[in-house]
Amino acid sequence: MRYAVLSDIHGNREALGAVLEAMAGDNTDACLFVGDLVGYGADARACVADLAALKPQVLIAGNHDWGVLNLLGMDYFNEYAAAAVAWTKKALRPKELEYLKSFKLVFEDEKMTIVHGALDRPAKFNYVLDAEDAAVTLRLSRTPVCFVGHSHAPGIFRLDDQTAHSSDAGRITMEAGNKYLVNVGSVGQPRDGDPRACYAIYDDEAATVEIKRVTYDIEKAQAKIVKAGLPAWLAARLAEGR
Ligand code: ZN
Repeated sequence: MRYAVLSDIHGNREALGAVLEAMAGDNTDACLFVGDLVGYGADARACVADLAALKPQVLIAGNHDWGVLNLLGMDYFNEYAAAAVAWTKKALRPKELEYLKSFKLVFEDEKMTIVHGALDRPAKFNYVLDAEDAAVTLRLSRTPVCFVGHSHAPGIFRLDDQTAHSSDAGRITMEAGNKYLVNVGSVGQPRDGDPRACYAIYDDEAATVEIKRVTYDIEKAQAKIVKAGLPAWLAARLAEGR
């Protein structure tokens, strides 16, 4: 199977559309979603419809999805994120909220684990930012690969002797017997200095994971954010990739 692994779409329909177009050339069989479908962007409703149409095999809840559902207290969020959560609560219809409610905190089968943030306390939505954080999640993971999102910065880590080592490669071939953590980055609000939409392709037969980037119409997404009355910083940061 070849999977497209998408995370942190954040109501950015332009970015999601560009990723869906690129995915058409990736020969994928299924999609896995790692959380934060809404929040920050102005197209929450359209992104719910677009993701639902893809029928992802796995749907994981992010902190913004939970914030909109009142499952996570507003003290978790900074002022910009809180404003976006409040805006999104008003924008979504009951049926769309029901869709978000179907998202799970953790998925695990024999091949992979999927969680939005750190695996030790998934409902706390802690970040996996460095090798130390990655080691905590990798030691708990029981599968060859664990996919995370949340930090909006793509990254790959491998566990050796209980220590996580990061890899700079954008594409890895996983060795049997090792455990890998892959942060698939963010579709709709990258924060690693590269403003292009980010996602990953996982091929379980070839045991490869590839991080991919695609350009999208950033100005269009920015204009929608401003027009919606969301904080201007949420538009500005898209161009900076932070
Ligand atoms: Zn996010």
